[in-house]
Amino acid sequence: MLPLLRGLLTTLKSMAEKPTTVSYPEQKRPVSARFRGRHVLNRYENGLEKCIGCALCAAACPADAIFVEAAENTDEKRFSPGERYASTYEINMLRCIFCGFCEDACPTEAIVLEDNYELSFTDRKQAIYTKEMLLNPVPAQGKPTPQQVEPGVFTRSVPEMKDPTD
Ligand code: SF4
Ligand code: SF4
Repeated sequence: MLPLLRGLLTTLKSMAEKPTTVSYPEQKRPVSARFRGRHVLNRYENGLEKCIGCALCAAACPADAIFVEAAENTDEKRFSPGERYASTYEINMLRCIFCGFCEDACPTEAIVLEDNYELSFTDRKQAIYTKEMLLNPVPAQGKPTPQQVEPGVFTRSVPEMKDPTD
């Protein structure tokens, strides 16, 4: 009899507890600060893309998940402040192990793993995330790329970073 009463008491106690389940996808749990989710390609406030097509992220990737093809910027058709930009940028999410090495290798903080973990797909082709899918929207005060800029404003092959140790 005692074990039965103990069991009933446990049931009654748990009925009064606050539920720990979350009604996903309507409700989402916040992720930890160090969480590494889906990548994004960042832009500067003026809308130019941070990626300069150097492919250091691809070289650092242990899973060979990144494909970068670079092209030259001109002042009439400028995508990034550097000498070059990524004309093609793809990540194969089936290969990615979310190690974050690409983020660490990037000299311009262009590629960042953020908190989006909704990466389901039903087809192998959908697992290839293209530059268009990864690139952040143009900020309110910025202009879309390509931009036409004044000659001589952008002269560095790698843009100067405010604090490269950040
Ligand atoms: S997180 Fe790691 S595995 Fe994924 S693309 Fe970046 S370097 Fe490659
Ligand atoms: S994301 Fe960064 S490391 Fe990768 S190609 Fe662009 S600038 Fe280079």
